[in-house]
Amino acid sequence: MGNNFYYGFDVGGSKIALGVYDKARRQIWSKRVATPAHDYALLLERIAALTFEADAFCGSRGRVGVGIPGLPVPDDGTVFTANIPAAQGQRLQADLSQRLGREVRIDNDANCFALSEAWDDEFKTFPVVLGLILGTGVGGGLIVDGKPLTGRNFVAGEFGHMRLPLDALEVLEIPGRDVEQPLCGCGKRGCIEPWLSGTGFARLWRLHYQSDLSAPAIVSRYYQQDQQAIAHTARYQALLAVCLANWLTLVDPHLVVLGGGLSGFKALYDGLEQQVATHLLPRAKPPRIVQARHGDAGGTRGAAFLHIQD
Ligand SMILES: [Zn+2]
Repeated sequence: MGNNFYYGFDVGGSKIALGVYDKARRQIWSKRVATPAHDYALLLERIAALTFEADAFCGSRGRVGVGIPGLPVPDDGTVFTANIPAAQGQRLQADLSQRLGREVRIDNDANCFALSEAWDDEFKTFPVVLGLILGTGVGGGLIVDGKPLTGRNFVAGEFGHMRLPLDALEVLEIPGRDVEQPLCGCGKRGCIEPWLSGTGFARLWRLHYQSDLSAPAIVSRYYQQDQQAIAHTARYQALLAVCLANWLTLVDPHLVVLGGGLSGFKALYDGLEQQVATHLLPRAKPPRIVQARHGDAGGTRGAAFLHIQD
């Protein structure tokens, strides 16, 4: 009972999406509803209603995983999630498990993204998969043998909040090393995120050319063979390579999957593996670095697969 279907909830600030997956990891049903802004009881009620609807559809009680933009707090069983005020500080996992009458697993959305990709038909043969999101923010998750490595605080893989390496400034070709480190979304300076996010992509342009251009506008100039955009892309790629190399030396993954808005920019992949290799130990081969295959479905897919393999 219950082993044949996986339910993944992607709970965001504005919507709750449910994806139902069968044993072959195919999505067989999906539905979305609005996230209640401040009403926790209603939030539990909406998730419960979707779960029971899915049970009726499947004729079985599926296993439930939930991905949230935030972090479970293992010490007291609550969740930290600024984007979902209704759930902030609540014991979401225990309350849902009780309400749904089954074990509910919760993880952060970046881990769910990485998990979704790691369970791709081809990628699941790789023992260690690093998933990175280059979008509005920079997130990441590490999957080992099909399971997220969450660590002590569920922050393992939070690529965006690692320190910017010293040689990154050389790669950025910013003279004098006296550039002010931008404030990161986490409240600190010196993080990787403000440089490698979509905003960072535009920031790098502004530093070099003293003009404002959005990331999509820069990308479209690149495809028109604009020389500045080509030089800019090389700089961003070099920065990505030097930041990624620290990760690769730490965990030596077999595969790196990139998601988020910038991951669709194909030029970023040209020569990236070779570029990364120059920062690794001489005998280390860089992993394959590929674009995510499951895109927007990653949120529900990954959440659903929090239960897979057991
Ligand atoms: Zn940060």
